[in-house]
Amino acid sequence: MSTYPGSKTYIGRFAPSPTGRLHFGSLLAAVASYLQARKSHGKWLVRIEDIDPPREIVGSAEAILSDLATLGMTADEPVLFQSHRFKAYQQSCEQLIQSGLAYWCGCSRRDLPATGIYPGTCRNGLPPGKLPRALRVRVGDVPLSFMDRIHGEQVDDLQSSIGDFVIKRADGVYAYQLAVVVDDAFQHVTEVVRGTDLLDSTARQVWLQQCLGLPTPGYVHISTAVLPDGSKLSKSMDSDPICRQAPAEALRAALIFLGHEPPAGGLASIWHWAIENWSIARLSKDHGIAVDLGNLAGK
Ligand SMILES: [Zn+2]
Repeated sequence: MSTYPGSKTYIGRFAPSPTGRLHFGSLLAAVASYLQARKSHGKWLVRIEDIDPPREIVGSAEAILSDLATLGMTADEPVLFQSHRFKAYQQSCEQLIQSGLAYWCGCSRRDLPATGIYPGTCRNGLPPGKLPRALRVRVGDVPLSFMDRIHGEQVDDLQSSIGDFVIKRADGVYAYQLAVVVDDAFQHVTEVVRGTDLLDSTARQVWLQQCLGLPTPGYVHISTAVLPDGSKLSKSMDSDPICRQAPAEALRAALIFLGHEPPAGGLASIWHWAIENWSIARLSKDHGIAVDLGNLAGK
């Protein structure tokens, strides 16, 4: 495998949580990340983010992988499961503790302000009578900036927007932010293509990369699909049975949402067209209306 940083090989990834089948929103992230990797003659990896068992639905990792296969998307390396990576997350936590960048917080939910911004109560040690619960990383006191290829320069003052944030929860679950950063570096990911719902998380991830001495990949946050009334997608709009019954229609609907209008055709010819014509310059910054994949099959 080529090394990163300094790598000439583009490495992208699709990293779903196993909380249901592919829905239209996750299909968009899968298709966009896949095409960006194929267009760049790079690799496309798949990572299952199964670190939060209470949120997971049994069988959905397999269902997502089967949906991707039906759509004609194959990862270039074996699928990485975050549930197999706890040792690496623990090592990163220890590295941050040893370098003074992470500390134990004894605050319970009741102790935290409703704003969600951590006031730094345990920054200088646990208050008397408190036991260590969650592990937090210290954020810097200057605004952090990063570039997004669609949304431009993003600036986030973590101290005022979130405060020192949790990297290992009181229930022992490693935080999403930490696991993503550790694994993007482990997999040598050079560019992250995902939905704008994760744009807010990116500054925290860039901060963790800096704290851990890891490279920062490029970022492309694609617009999110919403329901006609503006609300978020629900499980009822998942892909079953679209990916088995009408994968070409599902792919075509995703491409149209992403600003590309392929000619009608079979799966192979749509992919061929899409790889040839893919350009993130065609992606919109704005939210779009989701396509009900369940209805496509009947059309
Ligand atoms: Zn605390």
